[in-house]
Amino acid sequence: MKFETAAVHAGEGPVLSDGGSGDVVVPIHLSSTFARRDVAKPTGGYEYSRSGNPTRGALEQKLAAIENARFGLAFASGLAAETTVALTLLKKDDHVVAFDDLYGGTRRLFGHVFEENFGITFSYVDARDAENVKAALRDTTRLVWLESPTNPLIRLCDIRKIAGIAHDAGVPVVVDNTFASPFFQHPLTLGADIVVHSTTKYINGHSDSVGGAVMLSDEALYRRIRYNQNAAGAILSPFDSFLVARGIKTLALRMEQHQKNAIAVARYLEGHKKVSAVYYPGLPSHPQHALAKKQMEGFSGMLSFEIRGGKRAALRFLRSLRLFSLAESLGGVESLIEHPATMTHASVPKAEREKVGVTDALIRVSVGIENTGDLIADLDQAFGETGS
Ligand SMILES: *Cc1c(COP(=O)(O)O)cnc(C)c1O
Repeated sequence: MKFETAAVHAGEGPVLSDGGSGDVVVPIHLSSTFARRDVAKPTGGYEYSRSGNPTRGALEQKLAAIENARFGLAFASGLAAETTVALTLLKKDDHVVAFDDLYGGTRRLFGHVFEENFGITFSYVDARDAENVKAALRDTTRLVWLESPTNPLIRLCDIRKIAGIAHDAGVPVVVDNTFASPFFQHPLTLGADIVVHSTTKYINGHSDSVGGAVMLSDEALYRRIRYNQNAAGAILSPFDSFLVARGIKTLALRMEQHQKNAIAVARYLEGHKKVSAVYYPGLPSHPQHALAKKQMEGFSGMLSFEIRGGKRAALRFLRSLRLFSLAESLGGVESLIEHPATMTHASVPKAEREKVGVTDALIRVSVGIENTGDLIADLDQAFGETGS
């Protein structure tokens, strides 16, 4: 099954046999527990909704199918998915090599929970150069953690190359694929061992559910993560599972439109005199455009740019927009815009932030699926409000 077909059909489909009701959409099974006839025989394999639920199970099959994985798991949030992966693979005194341009919440989880409380150490490296990952590996390294493209600087790393380096050292690789979405990038096919997503973003796509996902093909590892998901309890609710499964059905259509609009907005920004830099992998000026073309199947809908005039101009510009909502998060049908230095990345110390390149002039855009001309007209009028 190709992507669009799997997105619609995987995990779902009418049960036409006697006793089936013919629903073409998976029902929302709200029951917290499941009755059985015999003590040793859970009906349909279901016992208690934390350990397994039919609506979540349908979503998990869909998640696996769209990421070219054998197994999928649905979590209460992207960070719940990340936490469960980390607590499955890591223990005290272990070491992790991670990309230095990570989602702010991931940095907080690693630094303030796993490092401070559990004595796990992290080396953050510029993974744009795979050699930096190699140089950071230690005898105690148990995990390489990547994002590509990254947030908010839209940097890429060569997943295939880094997976090769990590595997030579016997270290598994996790890729947070949230920004590309499973429509535009398949890290497992590139050699990664585990993919994590915040389904809150593109996968659900309608800014009305917080959730996370883990996809992988190694059965033993899947069983361990699943065991810990149940042990820790970080599951997605039946209603959210329904919403995410519904969102996935239009993921291909949405991503095409996100990308079309993002290319138009990136080109517009690149030609604007009040913009000093645009970061979008679909632009030939992006330093990793060639890698993006090789590794991704498209460029997605996320971009960032630097406005001339620093923080003052940035805040003025953001206040003047009418269509783009000033909000954290991304990947929804509506265009969102934000100021990483004071919003999503406020928890990263200023010195560290600036070392990586998250300056006060940086603005991050999640380009929605609205009409292209309307979006550009809104940006244009907001630039007009920033003065010269
Ligand atoms: C939002 C996000 C997360 C965290 O997901 P939540 O659903 O908010 O917990 C992790 N990684 C990336 C890249 C994100 O954008």
